[in-house]
Amino acid sequence: MAERILVVEDEKPIAEIIQYNLEKDGYQVKIAYDGEEALRLAAEFKPELILLDIMLPKLDGITVCKRLRETEIIPIIMLTAKDNEADLINGLNAGADDYITKPFSVRELNARIKAFLRRSKEFNRLNNIQEAEQPQILKYLQLEIDLDLVEARRGGQKLDLTLREFELLKFLAQNKGRVFTRDELLQKVWGFEFFGDGRTVDVTIRRLREKVEVNPSEPIYIETRRGVGYLFNPPKE
Ligand code: CA
Repeated sequence: MAERILVVEDEKPIAEIIQYNLEKDGYQVKIAYDGEEALRLAAEFKPELILLDIMLPKLDGITVCKRLRETEIIPIIMLTAKDNEADLINGLNAGADDYITKPFSVRELNARIKAFLRRSKEFNRLNNIQEAEQPQILKYLQLEIDLDLVEARRGGQKLDLTLREFELLKFLAQNKGRVFTRDELLQKVWGFEFFGDGRTVDVTIRRLREKVEVNPSEPIYIETRRGVGYLFNPPKE
């Protein structure tokens, strides 16, 4: 069955080019031309992925993203103006999973979308396995990473992590003590094969630390290796 993608973009020519190319690749595509229509179509059309422009009439993309995040876990890719750091950070903070800068090539967009849908399918598949052989909970000091419930807790309190933050934490923890470069993390956690931007990793790590660490400016779980990357390296109990 064709996967559904909602394109939210008020510039008609861009929206139509995206639609044309995605339909050619076999996806089912709908376009929303403003923020309110985006929320309505997200509920009606139930897309598996949303491409969301930031500058939109009625409701801007950041607001749309936040609203969607209150109820849904549909992957969201933000479309941002080239090299607009503020847009990027606002978008990721609002709960977007990734961003792509305009102007983008159709090939790049299609590759990203494929990688995304593959990852979220895999995630759903793993989530639908009802009976695990044994409870899978990784424990480090006060931190528990519950692979069955797909949640992390610190001191017994559930942490409000996005899916991507959880996956990143899980991946790092399962490879405790190993340093990963940003590119490696993009490949392993985001599923990007050819493209990607290390800033996505940096911003996600920063947000993850704010939730996981007692003192995010002196992290004890997720360490930075300057000039190399990140590792999960909690002190021994
Ligand atoms: Ca726009």
